[in-house]
Amino acid sequence: DPLDEPTKLIGAIDQGTSSSKFLLFDPTDGRVVASHQIDLHHKCPHEGWFEQDPGDIIGSVQNCIIEVLGKEGISKEIVKTIGITNQRETTILWDKTTGRPLGPAIVWCDSRTADLAEQYIQKTKSKSINDLQLKCGLPIHPYFSALKIRWLIDNVELVKEALEDGRLAFGTVDTWLIWNFTEVHVTDVTNASRTMLMNIKTLEWDDELLEFFDIPKCILPDIKSSSEVYGEILGGELRGVTISGCLGDQSAALVGQGCFAKGQAKNTYGTGCFMLYNTGLQPSFSEHGLLTTVGYQLGPGQSPVYALEGSIAQAGDIVRWVRDNLNFIKDSSDIEKLANEVQDTGGVYFVPAFSGLYAPHWASDARGMIIGLTAYSDKRHIARAVLEAVCFMTREILEAMTQDAGIHLASLQVDGGMTANNLLMQLQADLLGITVIRPQMKESTALGAAMAAGLAVDAWNIHVLNNRISDNFKPSVLSDDRDARYARWKRAIPRSIGWASD
Ligand code: ADP
Repeated sequence: DPLDEPTKLIGAIDQGTSSSKFLLFDPTDGRVVASHQIDLHHKCPHEGWFEQDPGDIIGSVQNCIIEVLGKEGISKEIVKTIGITNQRETTILWDKTTGRPLGPAIVWCDSRTADLAEQYIQKTKSKSINDLQLKCGLPIHPYFSALKIRWLIDNVELVKEALEDGRLAFGTVDTWLIWNFTEVHVTDVTNASRTMLMNIKTLEWDDELLEFFDIPKCILPDIKSSSEVYGEILGGELRGVTISGCLGDQSAALVGQGCFAKGQAKNTYGTGCFMLYNTGLQPSFSEHGLLTTVGYQLGPGQSPVYALEGSIAQAGDIVRWVRDNLNFIKDSSDIEKLANEVQDTGGVYFVPAFSGLYAPHWASDARGMIIGLTAYSDKRHIARAVLEAVCFMTREILEAMTQDAGIHLASLQVDGGMTANNLLMQLQADLLGITVIRPQMKESTALGAAMAAGLAVDAWNIHVLNNRISDNFKPSVLSDDRDARYARWKRAIPRSIGWASD
């Protein structure tokens, strides 16, 4: 009798840019029963380059699993199934016969293909960054996988050879992980929608796009829904357990935040910052620099749900930079205390355009800028300006969404590592003029992956999300003040754009 069996737990691998995590959730209440997290390193060998080691990515995930399965009371027998959520767009190429990666993982925010993107824009009929928008939902930009694949094929000898011999395989991080665990070569619609190679309406690899970028279909994984059994884990601590959920991190957060209705939105503050707005069963196309993306497809027979997305390249990553490159703080979380030592930024504004500006500008030639410095400014003002910059960029995205979709959010649901920062949350409420709602269960992204995995095997109760406790931050400044600060920040933006091409 299944009723006599103890509840089995649902696992989630959350492979982010800053760290890898493995968590076990109780599907009856959505509680995290056990988890482990390992920080991940990256290399910047040249200006604008951002690489990770594909071996480190899989190794850190495996070590997280070993740690969690080693905890008291935890064993493979109580794990029903697992889901995966991952940093999106990051591109890995490997040899199908040996399983060996053939180059670095080119991470999503890497901008080495900025010139290549410009060449491809010039190849289009309209010579516009948005020439392919109606087909794939995205601008022609280094952010997405297609140009990263192109770069690896053109520049890495081992990749070229493997392609000629028919041994080459491509994957985003979800595909790389699933392949390493199961030897099945698949991705899900949400991850595929970030490659520039998938048709956003048919949800299949698109021959015209493949031809445009000159990428052979034989290196690509099969596209599946976000919630179905992809395969069984072949070895290690979880041998025999199925993988049955897969969502890019921002899609997973949309699911984990319970944004299932058209018109609901969430904003995730991690390495970058990403707002997704559920637009329902039809893709809608932005005229203000937002991306059209697949929100989720919860089962092979289910309709896909689309989202408009505002992507910000640098958010938590600037905090890391303040810590590691400026040495103002020892821990990322110390920025709150430092920024709280002053009442305002003293007129200092920060434009975090380390790898250009993403939405709504899509300016690869923008560069980072601190402006408004005086003899009075010090590290406390800069720290506060960093936090405000993330809030201003979010306001820019929300304004683009209002223009595109006519929405007026009454409140904003948030999550991600940076939302532990209460000052950031208060500044965000102040600078948007709406309430910011932060669920106390902080792992929305991992939760979304666990939900997708559990739903595929009838092991998740969708109502567990209904009674969630959250912290609310209400606006505390006058609208004149909020608008004046925003207008001033906006004045800095055109000064940053074009800097790298002058
Ligand atoms: P990702 O999913 O992109 O790996 P996370 O959601 O784990 O990112 O968030 C990590 C990022 O958040 C790091 O860039 C870190 O610098 C930043 N961060 C973490 N804690 C804080 C904090 N208290 N205040 C500001 N930034 C923080």
